[in-house]
Amino acid sequence: MSTKIFEGKKALIFGLANERSLAWAIAQRLSEGGAELAFTYPNEAIEKRMRPLAESLGAPLILPCDVARDSDIESTFAAVKEKWGVLDILIHAVAFANREDLDKRFVETSREGFRVALDISAYSLLPMTRLAEPLMEGRGGGTVLTLSYYGAVKVIPNYNVMGVAKAALEASVRYLAHDLGPKKIRVNAISAGPVKTLAAAGIKGFRDMLAMAEQKNPLKENISAEDVGDLAAFLCGPGGKHITGSTLYVDSGAHIMGA
Ligand code: NAD
Repeated sequence: MSTKIFEGKKALIFGLANERSLAWAIAQRLSEGGAELAFTYPNEAIEKRMRPLAESLGAPLILPCDVARDSDIESTFAAVKEKWGVLDILIHAVAFANREDLDKRFVETSREGFRVALDISAYSLLPMTRLAEPLMEGRGGGTVLTLSYYGAVKVIPNYNVMGVAKAALEASVRYLAHDLGPKKIRVNAISAGPVKTLAAAGIKGFRDMLAMAEQKNPLKENISAEDVGDLAAFLCGPGGKHITGSTLYVDSGAHIMGA
């Protein structure tokens, strides 16, 4: 990136686990553009991996936050408010489903497994956006970005309850965009093609999914985390000024294919 389009901007990033995380590619692009970044982690095991990365980008805030807990989300935003008083960019790159719910047939998903997947992967965007709103208002607007996958729209074998969670997430993006549009706060999702990350490793047959995507998509090559970082930077930057409520695909065109 040649110009510092995010100079003076403050970004809060949920979902950095390690150097393979899509959140890491996004963080690097925002940082290259001059943004100051804050990060969260859900537990000590993740903290160990992500802290050195966050520190390498000079993050002034690295906060514990299990997004299943309202109190954690509230204390995260309270810390951001205390440190910065404002916020420009919120990145939601968080998803979770119980492994057993990704191994069985979808019809066998338990009530609890359904609740957990939807709670962490979709609902969490709502309290985050709600708490970001007053901080972004102080800037005359802001941008919220989450990550989805095509399993929200079509059946992808083994994606199961996560596909239902992503459908809820994409619908939430539209409703949030409607709520917050008058305050010039934009809310969008990036629907990314498969990338080998920690979360992806939880999906049965992920390697086959990667191979199939490469074979079937029009460009005949898989995407990289950097492609997601580039699109995120576009959406969060001036190019995204009039884009809200959208799910944008970076998947080498896979979503246009019928078979
Ligand atoms: P990742 O494992 O690096 O990131 C997932 C993150 O979710 C981790 O940082 C993890 O700590 C966090 N998380 C899980 N439960 C949490 C909780 N209770 N509280 C707080 N954080 C929690 O994997 P990733 O692939 O970079 O995933 C980021 C996002 O991208 C997810 O929403 C995922 O569904 C989405 N996505 C991934 C792909 C892919 O192929 N990797 C494709 C499309 C969309």
